[in-house]
Amino acid sequence: MPDSKQIVIVGGGITGLTAAYYLQKRIIEEQLPYKVKLVEASDRLGGKIKSVKTNGYTFERGPDSFLIRKPSAARLVKEVGLEDDLIKNGTGQSYILVDKKLHKMPSGSYMGIPTQVSPFLFSGIFSAKGKLRAGMDFIRPKGKQSGDQSLGLFFRRRFGDELVENLVEPLLSGIYAGDIDELSLMATFPNFYELEQEHRSLVKGLRKTVPKKKSNKGKKPSMFYSLTNGLESLVDAVEDKLVPGTVVKGTGVDHIEQKDDHYHLLLSDGTVVQADSLVMSTPHFAARRMLSQYEFMDVFKEMPATSVANVALAFDQSAIKKDIDGTGFVVSRNSDYRITACTWTHKKWPQSAPEGKALLRCYVGRPGDEQVVDLSDQEIVNIVLHDLKKIMKITKEPEFAVVSRWKNAMPQYAVGHKERLAHVRTKMEAELPGIFLAGSSYEGIGIPDCIDQGEAAVEQVLSFLSQ
Ligand code: FAD
Repeated sequence: MPDSKQIVIVGGGITGLTAAYYLQKRIIEEQLPYKVKLVEASDRLGGKIKSVKTNGYTFERGPDSFLIRKPSAARLVKEVGLEDDLIKNGTGQSYILVDKKLHKMPSGSYMGIPTQVSPFLFSGIFSAKGKLRAGMDFIRPKGKQSGDQSLGLFFRRRFGDELVENLVEPLLSGIYAGDIDELSLMATFPNFYELEQEHRSLVKGLRKTVPKKKSNKGKKPSMFYSLTNGLESLVDAVEDKLVPGTVVKGTGVDHIEQKDDHYHLLLSDGTVVQADSLVMSTPHFAARRMLSQYEFMDVFKEMPATSVANVALAFDQSAIKKDIDGTGFVVSRNSDYRITACTWTHKKWPQSAPEGKALLRCYVGRPGDEQVVDLSDQEIVNIVLHDLKKIMKITKEPEFAVVSRWKNAMPQYAVGHKERLAHVRTKMEAELPGIFLAGSSYEGIGIPDCIDQGEAAVEQVLSFLSQ
């Protein structure tokens, strides 16, 4: 048997963990002469996936769920034996806060784009003029621009500013925490571009392509999965499946040098690790630092990552006198609020709070108000409570509040992202063969997107090493 080759995965978030798990699975199944090492800078795995269990509550500091329609996450859950822990979100009315008022989210919309006309016509979210302008989607010609453009530009052209600012922007900001007038259409929702090219009207295109919801006595179908014991239980289960000795925690990679046909990784404890192939699953700015001698990595210096914070507030249900019959709301930019979204976690995930308790999870931090993340815990809690009290009657202090800060945590795919990434990948293939980028900075930020990228990296590494 030849000497085994070493594959190093840098970063132990869900992308790196996926790559490690599936690589080891293939190595064992196909008896390949390779070893896997995963190097994680912090003292825990999971990256942005972090669950809290306290006083009978289970909730998340980071992501709270993943999309059911993208299968790779549920597949990984099943791989590591957690299938029985999968739970679907409770559904109910969601709201949008516009001009100090909560409005029901119009039914029949996909990412804020109407698929049915009447709920929009009767919605108080838009003025008559805004509705007329949105209706222009039916008659406007398709856009000529074939390259990339911002999400804002694209949607404003089709529907006008009101629908974009009062509905599309708050919904998309909830995913990307970014400015839709900067975000790339092609790197986030290329399907909308294709719909326009094919059907001209997005409304007509969506009607033809979005699968009709099966009638379930009028009940909305669940769109998200979580896990009974929190999403971090997936991280723990994947870690348990790795071959003992695979993971190095609390030691980051500072620098990577190419030496002949392999790489030397200088770790933060001064040791050097050799690798024949690498999966870099850290955020883009960390990858650039490790490979700072390569000019083509400089594009990542310009790539922003925005900051957000969330607050989980636990109450006795009796403390909330004027409650809202729903699962949460998002906030339009045209509202005088600093919270950007709020989830009634105990309704969306009933197992998250003990009987008789309410758990609200609110976000702050949006483009132009990112400094809110640097305030003290108490200041952030006060901002959130002040905003909540404008729309609901809360009579007691929260039983507890947990503030989670996410600084530079939301990578922003600005216009031209795909081209810039393709350029970096081409350069890497030529100058750093065997090094592969994967993770939320590159081809999708959702958990299933990261898992897809971890799986794709496995194929790239195995194909490279077999040459
Ligand atoms: P990360 O989780 O960032 O992991 C990267 C790892 O690399 C980290 O552990 C880090 O410590 C490590 N690292 C960094 N530098 C080095 C170094 N030099 N050497 C070694 N290791 C290093 N997605 C959803 O699908 N649903 C949601 O509900 C959702 N909500 C979110 C809410 C918040 C607040 C945030 C921040 C994100 C949310 N996301 C959600 C997005 C999703 O959580 C992330 O995109 C995903 O978890 C990122 O995984 P990753 O492995 O690519 O990166």
